[in-house]
Amino acid sequence: MENKSGWLRIDEKKKKEVMNFAEEYKKFLKEVKTEREAVNFFEELAKKNGFEPLERAKKLGKGKYYVIKNGKAMALLSINEDLEKGFRIIAAHIDSPRLDLKPNPIIEDKDSQTVLFKTHYYGGIKKYQWVSRPLAIHGIVVKKSGEKISINIGEDPEDPVFSIPDLLPHLSRKVQGEKKLLEGFEGEDLQLIVSHIPDAKDEKSSLKNSLLKLLNEKYGIEEEDLFSADLEVVPAHQPRDVGFDKSMLGAYGQDDRICAFTSVKAMLDSQQKGNTIVILFDKEEIGSDGNVGAQSNFIEYVIARTLDIDNQKYSYGTFLEIMNKSKVISADVNAVVNPLFKQVHDLNNAAKAGFGVVVTKYTGSGGKYSSSEAQAELVAEIMNLFDKKKVIYQFGLLGKVDEGGGGTVAKYLAKYGMQVIDMGPGLISMHSPFELVSKFDLWSTYQAYKAFLEG
Ligand code: MN
Ligand code: MN
Repeated sequence: MENKSGWLRIDEKKKKEVMNFAEEYKKFLKEVKTEREAVNFFEELAKKNGFEPLERAKKLGKGKYYVIKNGKAMALLSINEDLEKGFRIIAAHIDSPRLDLKPNPIIEDKDSQTVLFKTHYYGGIKKYQWVSRPLAIHGIVVKKSGEKISINIGEDPEDPVFSIPDLLPHLSRKVQGEKKLLEGFEGEDLQLIVSHIPDAKDEKSSLKNSLLKLLNEKYGIEEEDLFSADLEVVPAHQPRDVGFDKSMLGAYGQDDRICAFTSVKAMLDSQQKGNTIVILFDKEEIGSDGNVGAQSNFIEYVIARTLDIDNQKYSYGTFLEIMNKSKVISADVNAVVNPLFKQVHDLNNAAKAGFGVVVTKYTGSGGKYSSSEAQAELVAEIMNLFDKKKVIYQFGLLGKVDEGGGGTVAKYLAKYGMQVIDMGPGLISMHSPFELVSKFDLWSTYQAYKAFLEG
């Protein structure tokens, strides 16, 4: 394989394409910081591109359809041939690590004269990375009447932000200095300051009352509404170019909305002869559980409903045959070599920034545990396809054997007999509030997904 940076393997015209694609992606990341926002964004885009809700289709002809589950998971379908031929599927996830507000979040702290919101983190975070930085709150509040209130505070430059207060170095020698790095901030410490002016009309000078009054006036929210709300705390900063050469892009939530964006774009921009699905799951970061995670029956539901609307009499056997015939890219990020921590990578098998989309034969940890592993035949087929379509790609594994590891949704689709391969861009600082990607790898991923969908 050519051991050369992708940046040296494209001409000036392509380089412009790379940079322009990154601008579009930046706009998406700016608008989308939660799974619900991702679904809204993609629904809008799908409609603009002639997709219609599957449930409204009376008869299935050649066409483009979409299905949304609970506002948190989504599938886009392009039907172009006999359904018995199976599907080419790209599966990504649209949830990212973050802090969720606890159902009863409000803490009134008279000693510090502040009101704080308590949180429970979601997914694998390094807690210390979330302190002393501007944070935004996104999500929805649903009143008992069913009325939905969308919340998005901290993105507009005029908006306030929130912050988890770190300790000054002058006083942290014992409290933090004697602890291990990852224990310097613990789960219950992840509390953000949300207000500070006491209620002048209240004889107890209640801080909490004045906050509740404000929440009610500004957003129509009562304290009890917080019990049911889906409210997520995310970094308030915007996506930025990184480096003098603007070669990288730094942003929150790239794992895995980078794969969601590139796969949906690939579906909209490619010329497909076969049947294809892009499916976007929630809950990957906490084990793919629940009715919108990859372990739910969402993929079965989408395919079975498609067969129903096609109105032919499909047997259960044919349904399983269609599942068996389908091929899947499990579209998720990998890690590229981190210049400061090379010791965790096996450099012969690690992906490098700028070398293109990363094809991963297996994920998992400690003896390939929990991996579905792509079989040789499928990997060879993909290599052949990419050579033909001039996709620049590389192979990569997550880290050294027994160094750690991680999984993707691959195994939850492989259980249907589908052939699954892991593929996506490599990030630096994955799961941090500011994940980095090479713009070349972003573009290469889009090219790879397009090539796969076109077949
Ligand atoms: Mn991921
Ligand atoms: Mn992840």
